[in-house]
Amino acid sequence: MPLPDCRVLRLDLVHPLAGGNKWYKLRYNLQGLQPGERILSFGGAWSNHLHALAAVGAELGLETHAVVRGERPETLSDTLQDALDMGMVLHFVSRGEYRRRHDADYQAGWQARLAPCRLVPEGGANLAGARGCQEILSPTLLADTDLVALACGTGTTLAGIAAALEAPRRALGVSVLRGDGGMRERVKHLLAQLGAGARDNWRVEQRFHGGGYARVAPELRDFMLEFEQRQGFALDPVYTGKLFYALYRLRASGELAPGTRILALHSGGLQGRRGFDWLPEGPAGLR
Ligand SMILES: *Cc1c(COP(=O)(O)O)cnc(C)c1O
Repeated sequence: MPLPDCRVLRLDLVHPLAGGNKWYKLRYNLQGLQPGERILSFGGAWSNHLHALAAVGAELGLETHAVVRGERPETLSDTLQDALDMGMVLHFVSRGEYRRRHDADYQAGWQARLAPCRLVPEGGANLAGARGCQEILSPTLLADTDLVALACGTGTTLAGIAAALEAPRRALGVSVLRGDGGMRERVKHLLAQLGAGARDNWRVEQRFHGGGYARVAPELRDFMLEFEQRQGFALDPVYTGKLFYALYRLRASGELAPGTRILALHSGGLQGRRGFDWLPEGPAGLR
């Protein structure tokens, strides 16, 4: 199997516990805090975002809280156990209640309860998050790049990347979700807020979700196992596995022309590997 030839920007290495795009998304979300201000965010049992927030919060001496989707299980996921160990306070809510996480009055209730409290949305998906992602790429990195490729969940990172890219460079977001879920509109909206509303140097590739969020098709599993053996670094099945699989397929089909100089973002997420028992042990216990 010819693996996609591209350069890889290893954002997973920028921090031992909070590496990846979440590190950048948190940067401005945690700026200008009042003394004693608590941080509240939202996520599921394997959330890379909550894991990163717990780690950064512990490092900065912040009191972090998380509203977690679903009733408290008897045994916590590795992600939530880590978060707890790093001092994050976990508030489990029913799936029905969790659906209200974006509602202003629901958020206001939590903010009143934890006042003074800074709210960071699920996944760090807001303008501050996108602004942080504008800082991922440096001019040196871009010098030899035609296309920046990355995995997309909410599209926040893609918006930051596209805003930072001057023509003729382009961004390719590989969606890990089935269906658009409003991603393109969100990217457009964030780009406008970043003062880059006219940017049309990006697109979202929708064909490689492989069954939907966190679903792993057999061909993705086979691809990942071979990729990791041959490339010598780890991927996660939810995001970066799908990104590199998409690049491999797009190269093989000729949709990505052979001369295209690709910079692929390794956006982290390796802690989430522990939710997949078919994967071998990853780096430093983060299987
Ligand atoms: C959260 C996450 C993404 C998706 O980022 P968005 O900005 O929501 O599109 C991609 N890769 C990894 C590893 C993530 O944890």
